[in-house]
Amino acid sequence: LYNMVQDLKGNIRVYCRIRPLFGSETKGVIDFIGDDDSLVVVDPVKPQKDGRKVFQFNRVFGPTATQDDVFADTRPLIRSVMDGYNVCIFAYGQTGSGKTHTMSGPSIGSTRELGINYLALQDLFQLSAKRKDIMKYDMQVQMVEIYNEQFHNLENLTIIKLEIRSCLGEDNVALPDASMHHVMSTSDVIRLMKFGETNRAVGSTAINNRSSRSHSVLTIHVNGEDVSGGRIHSCLHLVDLAGSERVDKSEVTGEGLKETQYINKSLSSLGDVIMALAQKNSHVPYRNSKLTLLLQSSLGGHAKTLMFAHVSPEGDSFGETISTLKFAQRVSTV
Ligand code: ADP
Ligand code: MG
Repeated sequence: LYNMVQDLKGNIRVYCRIRPLFGSETKGVIDFIGDDDSLVVVDPVKPQKDGRKVFQFNRVFGPTATQDDVFADTRPLIRSVMDGYNVCIFAYGQTGSGKTHTMSGPSIGSTRELGINYLALQDLFQLSAKRKDIMKYDMQVQMVEIYNEQFHNLENLTIIKLEIRSCLGEDNVALPDASMHHVMSTSDVIRLMKFGETNRAVGSTAINNRSSRSHSVLTIHVNGEDVSGGRIHSCLHLVDLAGSERVDKSEVTGEGLKETQYINKSLSSLGDVIMALAQKNSHVPYRNSKLTLLLQSSLGGHAKTLMFAHVSPEGDSFGETISTLKFAQRVSTV
């Protein structure tokens, strides 16, 4: 396990998750999921040979995979935050592809099928208890949302500032106005997160589904001190990204157009940062978006990054599914 965790350092892993096809949807476009973590996507208008595309990732989770299956393969990475590594996990994909299902779970108020956010904290509490004789841990949680390139405190939806302190050529970013919560148990976490989710939903209107137009970032700051006084400080970012669907700019105006432009900008900045890290460029354009600025210390270097590429199997989503998988493929061949 230790070796596996070491291997992940500095690399970006990509897991693909395919949500189930719902009863009302047309025939699916995912034809085959291989034991070798590959999948085949079939173009519904030309299902013959040239309409079939094969993709391969570090892991592929099919429609029957449970939250526990997904968590089992994410856990080693999450646990390494307790050894001092910065870790970043983000969910990418079009609206309706299952990002929130993976990160939070199915719905507000439900305690069934809890997602990675809860399972991660639960696991970190367990690990902390297990290590209590050798290491003292303190965990604090921050919940923010990035909407229209501005940070919002998820507890009261007020706009907050990001502070950058440059020190020895490195940027240190912090959100001093986002409330920090000490968490000691899973129930503390559930209460806090349900509150944040409810607020996010309240911020939405029928024409503006805010939760799919903003990035939500749950950050767990871990401080640890061992018996000989050695200290660690690390953080785990759990990110539910805005929907990646391309919105036709001719169809949106005003507020919607601004949202779309901001989302495109931040998602493409995320791609650019990952590519620059992959190519070991001396300049990594972290400053091009709020999202990459915030995640800076958890992308590249000694940090460990995992991207979940979410796709919907339905025929109508074929174009978006291909574009998500292509983006994910580029990231994973890094
Ligand atoms: P997104 O956050 O990407 O917009 P959601 O997570 O809200 O998508 O998922 C859309 C719908 O599909 C929700 O009703 C959700 O509960 C359901 N869903 C998504 N993934 C799964 C899954 N793996 N198993 C069962 N239902 C799922
Ligand atoms: Mg969502």
